[in-house]
Amino acid sequence: MIVCASCIVCIVKFEELDIHEKVLEGIKAAGFKKCSPVQAETLPSALNGKDIAAQAQTGTGKTAAFLIAIFSRMLNTPRAGRGRSPRVLIIAPTRELVIQIDAEAKLLSGPSGFKILPVYGGIDYIKQRDAITQGVDVLIGTPGRLIDYLKQKAYSLKNTEFLVIDEADRMFNMGFISDLRFLLRRMSPYDKRQSMLFSATLSHRVLELCYEHMNMPERFSLTPETMTVEQIEQELYHVGMSEKYGLLLGLLRREPEGRYLIFCNTKVVAGRLEVFLNANDFPTAAITGDLHQNKRLKVLSRFKDGTLPILVATDVASRGLHIDGVTHVINFDLPQDSEDYVHRIGRTARAGAEGKAISLACEDFVHSLSDIEDYIKHKIPVGLLTEELIVTVYRRKFRQPKTSTVPEKRRYSTKKHGSSGSRMTESKNKNSTVKKHRRPESGKRTNRIVKK
Ligand code: AMP
Repeated sequence: MIVCASCIVCIVKFEELDIHEKVLEGIKAAGFKKCSPVQAETLPSALNGKDIAAQAQTGTGKTAAFLIAIFSRMLNTPRAGRGRSPRVLIIAPTRELVIQIDAEAKLLSGPSGFKILPVYGGIDYIKQRDAITQGVDVLIGTPGRLIDYLKQKAYSLKNTEFLVIDEADRMFNMGFISDLRFLLRRMSPYDKRQSMLFSATLSHRVLELCYEHMNMPERFSLTPETMTVEQIEQELYHVGMSEKYGLLLGLLRREPEGRYLIFCNTKVVAGRLEVFLNANDFPTAAITGDLHQNKRLKVLSRFKDGTLPILVATDVASRGLHIDGVTHVINFDLPQDSEDYVHRIGRTARAGAEGKAISLACEDFVHSLSDIEDYIKHKIPVGLLTEELIVTVYRRKFRQPKTSTVPEKRRYSTKKHGSSGSRMTESKNKNSTVKKHRRPESGKRTNRIVKK
């Protein structure tokens, strides 16, 4: 079945479907007026108990699609008390996605009274285990934590009635497939439960998993033309590595209002971008895979509530990030994996909003461009790189030099790193200003001549 962003399915109202009235209350509380395409397409079958394998990108409303169907069916066939098996198991690749699904589940379940528990690594190991042991209706977790508690016999999956595998392709990319299979092998038989799988791509390996562990799932997929969300305006600049930082500043100054998600390929560059943008008056935080969970949640909450306008992330760190209101995605580094391009730009234009995705193609990463364009089945429009767009004079914070005029005692008693801001030096002649600064990529001192 084909899901199209502008077809008739988009005007399906929730009230027209066989949804339990308590869930309708939850939908009202969430403020959803009508079904998104993926909901309009999958809900009729899912509400009938059919297994579903859907190709649906992040931002399309897929979470609500499976939650609404499951909650309605749970309410229609209530179970007395809570046994050792949760009625629902939802497996997601990242803790952020688990947190997001949990929040949406608590909203959409309305006044049903379901006990919903998220479990993920990083925090509250004992607390989460005790909560499972007491019995839950809906268990949402990352594979690692779920396996840990299952091995400890904190719960069982033998009588679980509903299974959701979210972002299945991510699960493969992150190396979780054997963990996933471990859980599936210990579950109720495939024909005794309803299973739903969602994935940005229904690749061969994802479909194989469906056939192994699902009961003849109905397949829903996007047409290749709508592989990237239609509302996203895409743009690409061919730029030298040495000019990327200047271009980034130029792009931010061109449209200073907005919520920016900037992607790069390594955590080293993520750290550099954080320092660089803050030094140039763009408040920014970076999240990388090794950031402590509490700090990560704080940064994300500041970005979500709008107090932090720019977030820098690597692909690993951004997995499962669900943030509404991102107006721009910038690929500071072009991703090396075509699917990552779709995932990255899908972080903007969520839930029908418009968004812009700008990619910087430098000599180090441009080689993946043709694969990306083959994958999305169109060329990304190339933007005109004007002199005005590349900022040539900018600040960069440097470490405190080893030789310092500050007395030894004071030098080591306060901060480790210098707080001098820019170490840019200027020497003037009649017609030009020569600015000496380090280029962020190379760390080498260079001279630039800025015409007056
Ligand atoms: P998802 O694809 O599940 O990550 O959903 C993206 C966003 O869309 C979430 O913030 C949902 O709350 C929102 N959403 C889901 N369904 C609808 C709907 N029918 N109408 C408006 N927003 C929705």
